[in-house]
Amino acid sequence: MIHLFKLDPRAPLVLDTRELGRRPGSQHQVSRSVPAPADLGIEVLRVPEGSPVELDLRLEAVMEGVLVTGTARAGLEGECVRCLGTIDDEIEVDLQELFVYDDLATDPDEDDETSKLQDDLVDLEPLLRDAVVLALPFQPLCQPDCPGLCPECGARLADDPDHGHQEQIDPRWAALAQLDQTD
Ligand SMILES: [Zn+2]
Ligand SMILES: [Zn+2]
Repeated sequence: MIHLFKLDPRAPLVLDTRELGRRPGSQHQVSRSVPAPADLGIEVLRVPEGSPVELDLRLEAVMEGVLVTGTARAGLEGECVRCLGTIDDEIEVDLQELFVYDDLATDPDEDDETSKLQDDLVDLEPLLRDAVVLALPFQPLCQPDCPGLCPECGARLADDPDHGHQEQIDPRWAALAQLDQTD
């Protein structure tokens, strides 16, 4: 894969590995809060763009590149697929990826999926995106046993657990009941 763009070393999701000096075994700890990129998640559940993503990472130089391991934590916003209620949640994902030096002679048969360093910079965004999307449920719920909506009137049953329509009153009796009340 040919990268037509150049990584910006000041971009929030770009990590500079130069201080590791390509010495296998040297390590560097990175803890930073970065604004979430757009479209981080799935349609019904995502990390709101610009909200903080807390990164806690260790960069470790190995022979062929830099190993990135750690976690990312962020807030989630979405919609329950059963009751359409708002979901306000948090996510923590594990990140682990080996970024190979881009100037190493590579095996032409090597698959293009290998993550590469570019000028000793790591682009974390694809890694973060994959980890978050994989960790999200396809059918997010506001609570594990969300009862959904009332099929009769569309009321949100979680707000009204005793909700029911079994006591439907015959309109004629309803008229009498009203007379009763005015007594
Ligand atoms: Zn729900
Ligand atoms: Zn109802």
